[in-house]
Amino acid sequence: MNKSEKSSCARCGKRLKKGGDNYRLECSIVSDFDGYLDPGASKRAPEELLDEINESGLTAQELEEQVYYSLKQRLCFDCRCRVIEFLKDIS
Ligand SMILES: [Zn+2]
Repeated sequence: MNKSEKSSCARCGKRLKKGGDNYRLECSIVSDFDGYLDPGASKRAPEELLDEINESGLTAQELEEQVYYSLKQRLCFDCRCRVIEFLKDIS
């Protein structure tokens, strides 16, 4: 990032002050493979799977994000606290 560029919290838009309580959120959610393949799925014809994908209405990006999604954001202190509360399921 350009040092003269002002940055803001990715969630609330509040300006992030230089030297302030700023945080970097870095997370990824990756599809887990448990070593088990559904025998029914492997017997299906490729055309059938393609039809199912087309009928889902999901974009290529949405389908990709179902397998791997990553996010990097800069946050203010308040948003950092809200994200942690959500992740810890504290309400
Ligand atoms: Zn914020």
